[in-house]
Amino acid sequence: MSTLPHADTIIRAGILVTQDADRRVIEDAGIAISGGDIVAVDHWSAISDAFAPNIDAALTPREALQPQQAGAPRVIDLSRHLVLPGLINCHTHAAMTAFRGLADDQPLMVWLQEHIWPMEKGLTPQLVHAGSIVACAEMLRTGTTCFADMYMLESETARAARQMGIRAMLGEGILGFPTRSYDTPQQAIELTAALRDAVADTDTIRVCMPPHGVYTTSEDILKDTFRAAEDMDMPWMIHLSESAAECAQSLEMYGKRPVAVVGDAGCLSPRSVLVHCVDLTDGEIERIAASGASVAHNPRSNMKLASGIARVRDLLAAGVNVCLGTDGAASNNSLNLFREMTACAMLGKVSSGDPTAVPAAAVLDAATVNGARALRWDGLGSIREGNIADIVALSLDEPALCPVYNPISHAVYAAGGHDVALTMVGGRVLYADGTFANITTEELRANARRLSEWVDTARSGKPHSGA
Ligand SMILES: [Zn+2]
Repeated sequence: MSTLPHADTIIRAGILVTQDADRRVIEDAGIAISGGDIVAVDHWSAISDAFAPNIDAALTPREALQPQQAGAPRVIDLSRHLVLPGLINCHTHAAMTAFRGLADDQPLMVWLQEHIWPMEKGLTPQLVHAGSIVACAEMLRTGTTCFADMYMLESETARAARQMGIRAMLGEGILGFPTRSYDTPQQAIELTAALRDAVADTDTIRVCMPPHGVYTTSEDILKDTFRAAEDMDMPWMIHLSESAAECAQSLEMYGKRPVAVVGDAGCLSPRSVLVHCVDLTDGEIERIAASGASVAHNPRSNMKLASGIARVRDLLAAGVNVCLGTDGAASNNSLNLFREMTACAMLGKVSSGDPTAVPAAAVLDAATVNGARALRWDGLGSIREGNIADIVALSLDEPALCPVYNPISHAVYAAGGHDVALTMVGGRVLYADGTFANITTEELRANARRLSEWVDTARSGKPHSGA
């Protein structure tokens, strides 16, 4: 037998859902981790014999928040937990936690034009940072270990993600008109390159290229951003076919529907992440499937804004890689992917009149392995040897989660996200049993206060001081 690698962290898992290629679910499992990577996954007896033969004491989730002593391997006891790969939120606008609950129950264009855009005109770097901190905390709290973001002043979201330790794929939203960050789309592409350079020193943050939508850009912007995404080898993301109204607007602007606009511009490829895709024809589903592009489904945002129902069952049947997103906190109003998973399954069933449509396993795939594939981030989405240790644990002492017959069913239908007891990114425990590793409740509250004071001032029409 070859020499086993050293493990610095060993997890004992009551029930482990690996999401590996064999869909292994292991009871009383062990995960050995070294330097943030998973080096072995097996039954506990095998892992404990190989990696922790002399360790008797095990840490509770909360004890595992403490920084690790150099050289001393530790065991984290999750034997009363359901352990899953960290969830991947493939579409959000993190800083929009600032506007959560500010203007609900409005038509999309009224909501955007009368409430959100006037606020966003006065955005400051401090506000984007504070909003992103709150968002990162909410996501870690509810089992998300990686999120893909599109917004303004994205370097502030990068600063927040770095501070909180969460994994992120960030993009400066690219529009055909000046924003708080740039005057021209070309400058936005340059900003994207600068952001990529600024995060090159960390392996938890990557950068993507996100033109906002076909109705807010142009054919040239689509082509230029796609070429730049290819040059920099990063994903290209766009809001696409979110509603029938968007498709009508696209017909007016371009003489064709959104899928044809991006397809004819050469922007449909495996690096493309198409967000929403609510209003699709059969031919468009075929075209997306043939291109290898991913679709980020945001069921709760689509329901709340009455945008329509994405044809998830048909997309899956066509072989499209469907992943999940929450959208921003102002249009959901939650960044909790467990709620999104439930909504994805329920909506897929009720819209097709078929209770077997969009089953739990397909939904968990969307929130894990499919997300990793969409973001082209190797090593994420499943708990297997060689992957990155992005892991979450649900407490099986929660009344809503016991007894357990099918852990995947529990993760999708019964869990609510607040049953998450531990969230680990790259082998580091960032949240456990009510406590965050990198922020105190007081600091979190201060960030929330900063947001509400800014919004109150902006709503009263008075000039605000900056943060
Ligand atoms: Zn969005």
